Amino acid sequence: MKIAIAGGGIGGLAAALALQQAGFSVTVYERSAQLVDLGAGITLAPNATRVLFHFGLGDMLEQTAVTPPHTEYRHYRTGEVIFRMMTKDFRALYGAPYMRLHRWDLQHAMITRLAQVAPGALKLGASVERLESTGNSVTLRFAGGHRETADVVIAADGIRSTLRETLFNPAPPEFAGFVAWRGLVDTSVLPPHLRESAVVFGQGRHINRYLVRRGELLNFIAVAHRGQWEAEGWTIPAPLDEFLQEFSGFDEGTRTVISRPVLGQVYKWGLFGRPWLEQWWSGRVVLLGDAAHPMLPFLGQGAANALEDAMILARCLATEPTPERAFERYQRTRGPRVRTATEQAAQRGHRYLGEPNADSLKGNEPGPEYAYDAVAGPLA
Ligand SMILES: Cc1cc2nc3c(=O)[nH]c(=O)nc-3n(C[C@H](O)[C@H](O)[C@H](O)COP(=O)(O)OP(=O)(O)OC[C@H]3O[C@@H](n4cnc5c(N)ncnc54)[C@H](O)[C@@H]3O)c2cc1C
Repeated sequence: MKIAIAGGGIGGLAAALALQQAGFSVTVYERSAQLVDLGAGITLAPNATRVLFHFGLGDMLEQTAVTPPHTEYRHYRTGEVIFRMMTKDFRALYGAPYMRLHRWDLQHAMITRLAQVAPGALKLGASVERLESTGNSVTLRFAGGHRETADVVIAADGIRSTLRETLFNPAPPEFAGFVAWRGLVDTSVLPPHLRESAVVFGQGRHINRYLVRRGELLNFIAVAHRGQWEAEGWTIPAPLDEFLQEFSGFDEGTRTVISRPVLGQVYKWGLFGRPWLEQWWSGRVVLLGDAAHPMLPFLGQGAANALEDAMILARCLATEPTPERAFERYQRTRGPRVRTATEQAAQRGHRYLGEPNADSLKGNEPGPEYAYDAVAGPLA
């Protein structure tokens, strides 16, 4: 079976690795002419690292990943510790580690692995504009007029998926009421006590900071509640003074960290969601990752769910007699879990808007979702 994947983000690359492992022929078509370093961090909970280790990425990731002993949740003004999440023992508790990584280190490891196991499978500068289904095959039409055919197409083209819009649901992404800033700090410019993992919240705002790349960089994501947002994209530079003013009520340690981003540069973007989609497939085309189910970042589970999707979809395609039957089973297995995560992510975002106390953090304790095993757990 010939499988084409539209989108070479975390979800598309994971699908390629999972399908290649299951014995399928795969090609990933990525719109960008070159993969770029977005300059951001990512948290991977054990349910995500379990899949990545299964792909053989463990050694590569461990070279740069940081596993903090714990993450503290603190009052924005006083710095009082409200809750401490212990993460050091997650490997023993859940069978896979908790990792914090520079996104580029993750992306680079995935691309390197794919090049080893399926040389030439990743095609850059290939923007899929349209899909046409005929019988049991799908034609992919690319910008520039080129076309390819495949037996199955996986649309992993992200939250702004045009393939989702053309095939399934015309509703565009909706602004979720939050804006976010991100930056990286070279830890050599920070005093040792600030080189740590912490979430500081209050006043309708919060800042999540953590170490990545062997502890050489500290990543921060700062979020504030907003009524509206117009600009688009992940890479809009924002004035540093405006950002610092927004968080001027925060404790001194937090203000020190966020005032020192590399090259004085922070980026700002709006957080978007989409209405829940009940069915993620049509004919021989199936959605995966953010294209199927974008979620707000407050649970740190968006990429994790894309990785789980990839693993489950590959297992369904390997065991079911037809792609349609495989998609049905993928949907049954993934739908309830992803829906719960999507709802929890939205609830957590709203809890951070409340008073910085233990009540606002109810549900933040690590739970059974981290034990989820997409590699060997049951399919529905
Ligand atoms: C602020 C923030 C922090 C986050 N932190 C975490 C975290 O800590 N942990 C976690 O698990 N998740 C996190 N997430 C969520 C995570 O980043 C996403 O869920 C994940 O990247 C989704 O991967 P994807 O492959 O589905 O989509 P994307 O990463 O968006 O990839 C889509 C790819 O498709 C390509 N593409 C688009 N259109 C086309 C086309 N027509 N043809 C070909 N290619 C196309 C794009 O160029 C892109 O490379 C966070 C998200 C945000 C916004």
